[in-house]
Amino acid sequence: MNADFQRRVKNTIQLDPEELAQKKKFMELALEEGRKAMNSGAGGPFGAVIVRNNEVVSCGYNMVFETLDPTAHAEIVAIRNATQKLGQLDLSDCELFTTCEPCPQCLAATYWAGISRIYYGITQEENVKMGFPGAKRMYEAFEKHGSDKQVVVFAYEDICQKLMAEWLKKDAQEKQYY
Ligand SMILES: [Zn+2]
Repeated sequence: MNADFQRRVKNTIQLDPEELAQKKKFMELALEEGRKAMNSGAGGPFGAVIVRNNEVVSCGYNMVFETLDPTAHAEIVAIRNATQKLGQLDLSDCELFTTCEPCPQCLAATYWAGISRIYYGITQEENVKMGFPGAKRMYEAFEKHGSDKQVVVFAYEDICQKLMAEWLKKDAQEKQYY
């Protein structure tokens, strides 16, 4: 167990064992989703379920191969299904059950959606051992620099600022901050 993993596990809250036992069915459902992805060839063996008030709102499985969409991770699919079903962007009263520790993209998506809690059963370290290096590599890149400076270039500020200036000129009632 490396230091990074130890630190993250230490920051994980300890839940009431009874609560965990009661909610286990949601992770089992997420596992079923992951199996669908794996056995259909739609994507990697990852599944996710979104729950509100102890009721399933949506499910999702990894669909990157089927959709040729590198962002179609189980968590993203489940979030999109949940917001469509509920007709709102805000998922702050929802919990996410995902079979694997979220990658940076999916973790960020949970922040955008305001999801209140994430449960995961496989760490990124274990994921790497199985041959999935992507997410851990991204976390490491973010820790070092905030972003990979070879990939992310700050440029064209003048023309990008013009769009923001147009936005600022709009009437207050036309603006939605998210
Ligand atoms: Zn992801």
